[in-house]
Parts: sequence; C-alpha cells; structure tokens
Amino acid sequence: MKTVKIGGGCLKGREVISSIVDLIVQRGRGNVFVLSALYGITDKLLTGIDKALKDEDSIPAMVSRLKDEHHNLLNELILKEEDRKSVKDELDPLFIKIERYYFGINFTRELTPRMHDIIASYGERLSVILMAGVLKSRGENASYIMPQDAGVITDGRFGDATANMLLTAQNFEKNVLPIMKSDKEGQASDKILFFPGFFGISESGEITTFGRGGSDYSAAVVAAALKADLLEIWKDTEGFMSADPNVVPDAKLIPVLSYEEASELAYSGANILHPRTVEPVRKSGINIAIKNTLNPDGEGSLITEYAVKSDSVVKSLTYTKDIAILKVYASGVGVRQGILAKIAGTISEAGINIKSVVTSQTCISLLLSRKDIDRAHSVITNMRPRLYRESEQITDNALISVVGDGLHNHRGIAARCFTAVSEADANIEMISYGPSRAALYFLIKEKDIEKTLKVLHSYFV
Ligand code: ASP
Ligand code: MG
Repeated sequence: MKTVKIGGGCLKGREVISSIVDLIVQRGRGNVFVLSALYGITDKLLTGIDKALKDEDSIPAMVSRLKDEHHNLLNELILKEEDRKSVKDELDPLFIKIERYYFGINFTRELTPRMHDIIASYGERLSVILMAGVLKSRGENASYIMPQDAGVITDGRFGDATANMLLTAQNFEKNVLPIMKSDKEGQASDKILFFPGFFGISESGEITTFGRGGSDYSAAVVAAALKADLLEIWKDTEGFMSADPNVVPDAKLIPVLSYEEASELAYSGANILHPRTVEPVRKSGINIAIKNTLNPDGEGSLITEYAVKSDSVVKSLTYTKDIAILKVYASGVGVRQGILAKIAGTISEAGINIKSVVTSQTCISLLLSRKDIDRAHSVITNMRPRLYRESEQITDNALISVVGDGLHNHRGIAARCFTAVSEADANIEMISYGPSRAALYFLIKEKDIEKTLKVLHSYFV
C-alpha cells in the first residue's frame, strides 16, 4: 500500500482537479491519499479570521463565498444531480460551523491559538469530503476518515504540532488498516481512502495543526503509521532540481537523493517538500517519491537512505531570502559560560525560531526569519542583565546552500566555493561548514544571488 500526498497546487479548478481524479482512478486504487485544502482555501480561512475579528457584517458573505466555491466545483465535477446533492449535504454543516466560529471570535474579540487551529483545519476537511464524493460518483470505492477519528495524536502544540508516532501507529492499526482491507477475499483492495492533511488531535482531543504547508508532514506521519511501502508526493513539478530553473536555466533534475540531502534542501529553500517530511518516514525506511502529475510516467525524484553517488559531490544549490542576522557583540564569547544559552534562550522563550547560530570570540550571529528580526532585537535589548555590548540587524543578505552527501570530508569544496563567489564578484559575508554532513551554507548580499548561483552551478554541477 502506498500513501500519496496531493497538495493544494494540484487541487485548483475544474480542469486540474479532473485530471487528478483521472490519475487516482488509473493508478490509485488500494491506496491512502492525504490531501491539502483546495488551492487558496487555507489562506481564505485565515484572512477571514482577521476580517471576522473586525467586522461582524462581513461574516455571512465570506462564508457563503467559500461555500459557493466548493459547490461550484461539485457542479462541474459531478454529473448527476442526486450525487451532487448528497456531497453538498455532507459539506454544508461544516460551513455553518465555520460561520459560528467566526461569529464567536467576533463576539469575544479574541483569537486564541486553539481557535486559530480549529478554523484553519476546515480547508482539509472540506477537500476530502469533496474528493471522496467525486470519486464515489464515478463508481469508485472511495471514502474518507478524519484525523480525529483515525487517531493522529500530536503533542498539543497549536500551530506547530509534532505527531506522537507510537500512539498514532497504534490507533491506525485499529482504525485505518481495517478500512483498507479488501472486501473480496484473495483480491487486491480497491479502496481509495482520503485523509485530510495539516492537523491531528492532542491527547486531550484538541485540534492542532502542523504549521503552514504541513500536509506533507501529515502524509509522512500517515505513511509511517500505516507502514506504507512508499510515500508519493504528487506535485506539478518534476522533483528536486540542481538549482532553481528560473535562476539557472540549465538546472537539471536530481533522480535520487538521500534523506539527509532532501532535508537540507527542504530547510534551505527548495520549495518541493515541507522540511519536516523526512522525520517520520526515515526511521521506518520508507522512501519518498516526488511525482509530477503533469508527467506521471516521468522519472521524478526518489528520496532514500543512501543516494547513489553522482559524478560531482555537490548535487544541488538552493537559496533563501528569508534570512536576517542578529549580531550580538560581546567580548570573550568562547570563555563566558552560558552566554550563548542565555541569549538564544531569551529569544526562543519569546516564541521566535532560531534557524542557525554562527559564533566567533567577539560576536554571536543568530540567523532568523526576516519577519522575526525586529522582535528578536527588542527582546534582547530588554534583557537584564544585558550580557552584551552592542547589537546589529542585517536584512539584505541571502543564504545559499551547497548540498551533497559527503561534502564535509571532500577536499577542495570550500575553496572552489570561494573562487566561484569571487568570480561572480560577490562577497561571502558569513559561512558555516562542518556541522552538516551534507551541506555548506554561506551568506551573500541578496542582490548577488543570481550571478553567484550561475557561476556556482557551472563549477559544481
Ligand atoms: N492547507 C495547509 C496550508 O496551506 C497545509 C498544506 O497545504 O500543506 O498551509
Ligand atoms: Mg500546501
């Protein structure tokens, strides 16, 4: 049995969804499908929260637009009126609930993390009901199960939950595996089970989401809990590339990557997989296959324990502009016990994620997301006692990652990087090499990204 993830990019409008439905019928029977919300729906639910907080009168129209969007698709995707009606009857109570939640937050003028996650989870609930309905209307043996009924158990952290794999796997054995069994003895199962991505429930029963884009992670959780043979991610792109083809036109597909390489690439900006996807499947040794829905027989990228060696150690280059540096200057960083822990602790207690840290004897550089830099700065400024002399924010940099297994013990990689960057007439502002077995990171000015990537790609790939 496979677990297949279908993202919001593939659930976009009648034509694209129809082609996905065809693919499911052709190659999906007997498998579990983890879905995102329909394209753009999570964003609408969340901007709806802001509107609902401010303006009670906007709520009914907002919810009715969401409803129309789902109904219109059903009208286009299902031929028979009675089949449409039964799916609408299943969907409509959810719109009533969304409306009540919006009125609730308007009345209290307060949005709790708990309520945020409940509302955000509705996009995926709606999409599985819709897709199961469409497949059923085509005569398929399709159904859905909600994470709270299947038993996807999380640690209860709203907006950024982590699954408890032990409990989840136990629950799946009771609640999900029996559904996938064939009705006819001796014959392969033809069941098509839809599963909403993005959220689970805490042990006390609270809806908790895995963070934006978290359906990839959900799919990995489902695959691991089911001990699936393979996790397929259906996307509208070929797979992992040696660089962003919009920046480096001769970038090529990477057919096989290791878990390590895929994680490094996902964390550092390759927009293919949610960075946490590898976590749950790695332990069970389940491979991940990226499949292009526009070219389903194409090779795609396979992520596995050990990638085959390629001619060059470096497999891919990625970059992200979502990087800001908070530089904290203090003397004797290396001999003052606890200074790093106190500064990093203060920032993370404020709920700010630290992407990475690079230190020298006189300066601690914290790499953060750009949206967090101002707040992180003000948090450490208010620290008492103040452990540092001076601080500085840098927001015009970009982070480039050079990724490939075994980089750390391959001679000459750093030297070639430096040469390539200087040939591109750019300057390395900061570098981190050694902590990862599969990546070298450095920062350059954002304006130099394009030319630097081009030269690096011609050197390495
Ligand atoms: N629908 C959620 C989001 O847009 C989760 C996902 O699509 O992966 O963030
Ligand atoms: Mg998504």
